[in-house]
Amino acid sequence: MELRKDPITRSWVVVGHREEAPTGAEGCPLCPNPSAKSPSILAIPPGVDWQVRVVPHIDPLYRIEGDTGRKAEGIFDRMQPIGAHEVIVETPEHSRQLSEFSDEAIERVLTAYASRIADLKRDSRFKYVTVFKNHGVLAGEEWPHSHSQLTAAAFVPRRLKYELRAAREWFREKERCVFCDILRQEEKSGKRIVDTQGDYAAMCPYAARVPYETWLIPRKHNHLFEAPGLGANRLHFAALLGRTLRRLEKVSVAYHMVVHTAPNTRNPKGQLAGYWTTLAEDFHWHIEILPIVQTRSKSYSIKEVYFNTLLPEQAAEHLRKLDPNA
Ligand SMILES: [Zn+2]
Ligand SMILES: [Zn+2]
Ligand SMILES: [Zn+2]
Repeated sequence: MELRKDPITRSWVVVGHREEAPTGAEGCPLCPNPSAKSPSILAIPPGVDWQVRVVPHIDPLYRIEGDTGRKAEGIFDRMQPIGAHEVIVETPEHSRQLSEFSDEAIERVLTAYASRIADLKRDSRFKYVTVFKNHGVLAGEEWPHSHSQLTAAAFVPRRLKYELRAAREWFREKERCVFCDILRQEEKSGKRIVDTQGDYAAMCPYAARVPYETWLIPRKHNHLFEAPGLGANRLHFAALLGRTLRRLEKVSVAYHMVVHTAPNTRNPKGQLAGYWTTLAEDFHWHIEILPIVQTRSKSYSIKEVYFNTLLPEQAAEHLRKLDPNA
């Protein structure tokens, strides 16, 4: 496994062969197994009666040891895929899905996300830590047991780089956060707001890439998912996430969910790298959910341009009307 940089798009690609995740034969690898010696990276609550547990991925894309060994190959760049790849087992119960959890149980999962992100960001080699969830076979889920995955990498992924650059430029021009601006306008019109709870909102973005694309975002500015601001109530966010997932599961067969938080700004000396000076003001964390909807008029991307067959304001209206508790 190695990382290669595309010199045109400047994005890093993990290249190499990967084994199929072992499933089936020895039973579910995510179910509690008292005889297994696999150590937990984190267990909530600690001990054998965990409700949420984080374990290393058995076939990781990134590995924790060593240096990036960044080097040139002629004009090209490559490096070792150092980083971390963990699995967040969201429940000890094999067939209970995240959307069916109580708000408190969802909050525990979010706490596990936050605690792992914060811990890995202490390592200055890791530039970006993210948590994602592929739910459903069509989303490429690795095991049916409810779980998410975390990766820490020595580079910032391309989509995030675009967001960070755009947010920084917006701030430079207007001295305002672009996400706060979007949210203010969306809340005023209400057209694309799906639901709110406390200081959090769920909305379909103006230029949604796929039908029912939904973002969850704090209404108070904060760039770090892992460090909720003073008075932030994660239980409110958990309740909103649960309702949103239940709504989306009524219209889609699978989804991708990804946490977008600020990148790691520490350099090896623990200082803030120069170009991130306004990060705390210009970036705003959020969670993006991209559902996979099976329709006859397929949404797809033609030559890298997304073609979405459903207007986001119609998507939001439909989602608002769905009863998440029915
Ligand atoms: Zn299981
Ligand atoms: Zn903001
Ligand atoms: Zn984003």
